[in-house]
Amino acid sequence: MERVRHSLSHLLAMAVLEKFPLAKLGIGPVIENGFYYDFDIQIADHDLAALENRMKELVKKNLKFKKETVTLGQAKKIFKSQPYKLELIKEIKKTKKPITIFKTCGSSSSPLFTDLCAGPHVKSTKEIDPEGFKLVKIAGAYWRGNEKNPQLQRIYGLAFENKEALTDCLKKTEEAEKRDHRKLGKELDLFSFHDVAPGMPFFHPKGSIVYNELKKFWIEAQKEFDYDMILCPSMLDVSIWKKSGHWDHYQDDMYFLKTEKGEKEFALRPMDCPGAILIYNNSLKSYRDLPLRYSEPGLITRKEKSGQLNGLFRVQQFVQDDAHIFLAENQIESEIKKVIALVDKIYRPFGMKHKAYLSTRPDDYMGDPKTWKKAEAALTKILKEIYGKNYGVKEKDGAFYGPKIDYQLNDSLERTWQCATIQLDFQMPEKFACRYIDQGGKEKRPVMIHRTIMGSFERFMGILVEHYAGAFPLWLAPVQIAILPVSVKHSDYGQKIDRLLKEAGIRAEMPDLNETLGKRIREAETQKIPYILVVGDNEIKSGTVSVRKRGEGDMGLKAAHEFISLIKKEIEEKK
Ligand SMILES: [Zn+2]
Ligand SMILES: [Zn+2]
Repeated sequence: MERVRHSLSHLLAMAVLEKFPLAKLGIGPVIENGFYYDFDIQIADHDLAALENRMKELVKKNLKFKKETVTLGQAKKIFKSQPYKLELIKEIKKTKKPITIFKTCGSSSSPLFTDLCAGPHVKSTKEIDPEGFKLVKIAGAYWRGNEKNPQLQRIYGLAFENKEALTDCLKKTEEAEKRDHRKLGKELDLFSFHDVAPGMPFFHPKGSIVYNELKKFWIEAQKEFDYDMILCPSMLDVSIWKKSGHWDHYQDDMYFLKTEKGEKEFALRPMDCPGAILIYNNSLKSYRDLPLRYSEPGLITRKEKSGQLNGLFRVQQFVQDDAHIFLAENQIESEIKKVIALVDKIYRPFGMKHKAYLSTRPDDYMGDPKTWKKAEAALTKILKEIYGKNYGVKEKDGAFYGPKIDYQLNDSLERTWQCATIQLDFQMPEKFACRYIDQGGKEKRPVMIHRTIMGSFERFMGILVEHYAGAFPLWLAPVQIAILPVSVKHSDYGQKIDRLLKEAGIRAEMPDLNETLGKRIREAETQKIPYILVVGDNEIKSGTVSVRKRGEGDMGLKAAHEFISLIKKEIEEKK
């Protein structure tokens, strides 16, 4: 597919040059699901259809792609009217790599179009399905991504092996746009962002309910897996970050608080680790205390470039569902397995498949390569035992202090999200001189595991909004039940049901009766409330409620108490 996508980007440049002979060409690489090409010329949205049609005609002409290596002089001549290409040629020259061009040829001997390119390309456009691609949008893009450079027009195209695959991708993109958590966050009144705190979400009452339910579920699981909860300050003296290695390896991503003298003194914590270590080191530990599991929903602040912020997915301040485990070396295997069991438990209610990846030593690492080898071998053994061959490896993607196991989640649109991470660390206990007394009365160094499972509550909530398209399961739904009396005279009965539900700990809401019943039903549906109860004369007479379930429709009449026990069970089971 890469060859097809790359060849289509050349055809796009050909079509643009035919229509706009003065266009200056930027670059035209392959991207996920397609390609783009940058042009220095004004192109409008309504030009896309004509350009796409012209590309289809070109595809049908069975044009050939021919590669040639040229000298600097030849290259300069060929691209004499293309300043951006000339800039690229200069750079290729610096690397001493050969300069290659691709000619797109028809039946005549002279090429129809020539581009500076390393390939690869299709031999002939016969290999391209003219119905398998589509130009989708135009967006501004600075030359080489630098805002000091001229702004070019970037045309994006999708390309697949055939029409079916293209249609499938278009449908998924459309669905993903409908589910965009930033859009749904507004529509469902969950959260907002404000310029005074870039990349720091403000959770509204409804969003806070979802957030707190997630956190509550997480805290209960920590208890079940024998973790102790701790809470540490989110601002610490920089000396501790120098000791931990963050100063050397992570400084650019941190916020510092300056004192009056303008010196760096405190830093907002970008990670929770030092707090847990300080608590561990506060008293002498024995082998009987290990593994010691400290769990902390810790407030983290990390510096991000404004262009990288993205709703709840990329924020500057968030709460990590963190834990630090201190253990003896011979406990690594059993403890990692226990963490993996917790990962399974926490992911289960959301119905997303997950896959584990081993991340190995990065170039910028700390410590002894031998220790790294040992740790990587330990994790490999565990992964093989649990998943057989069904796990991946990410070379050089470990943390600077140790190798790790990451988990990727698959959502309902089959998109992947990296969430859980389990990191083995032999360095930090060394740096902070952590110790315990072993069975023989000798001092030993514990090993540390850093782990998060959701990643952060903020990002995980963003993923869930899109995964469920805002239709949260009952246990997470901000409003679980809407009570809709048919008219004013049924309002007292509605209030009685409302009270019963609230006494049972259920989040019910009875919107005021200014609107017609039909309109109130539609509004409850738009808000994706899981259950709607309609109450009128019939229901009052029989002491029942008329139940509508989201996505399933009418469930008929149910006695109030029967209904309450039904949904209490559903909440309990997190279905
Ligand atoms: Zn090319
Ligand atoms: Zn940590």
